[in-house]
Amino acid sequence: MADVFSPEKRSQIMSRISGKETGPEIVVRRYLFAEGFRFRKNDLRLPGKPDIVLPKFRTVIFVHGCFWHGHKNCRYAALPKTNTVFWRKKIEGNVRRDIAAQRSLRELGWRVIIVWQCRLRNHAVCKATLQRVINRIQSKTR
Ligand SMILES: [Zn+2]
Repeated sequence: MADVFSPEKRSQIMSRISGKETGPEIVVRRYLFAEGFRFRKNDLRLPGKPDIVLPKFRTVIFVHGCFWHGHKNCRYAALPKTNTVFWRKKIEGNVRRDIAAQRSLRELGWRVIIVWQCRLRNHAVCKATLQRVINRIQSKTR
């Protein structure tokens, strides 16, 4: 069946879905940059394509959408009422991949920090979350 969108529109839509520059990642990047941290984005060479890579601190950060990455006990991760089995399998697959990528990264000597999207919604919580991220980046222990 022919695509209802023009190729230009379709690629615009798809690029938004694949999300190189979606909201929550930008919030974290902007904050770190303002605090003087320098980093790479979406490093394809590393397992799981971390959203933020800080080579100097041997640290990677994933900014996870609660639904797609199955945030436990989070209301934003609730499965749809229809096609629930399909969604559960899909999300469980994502979670398995995330865990495997995180394990590989740790084995390669990277510190892995996960930032959940729900922690960035409220201004005060967001600030506290980002401050904790910075503390972890700079901490001597892993
Ligand atoms: Zn969440």
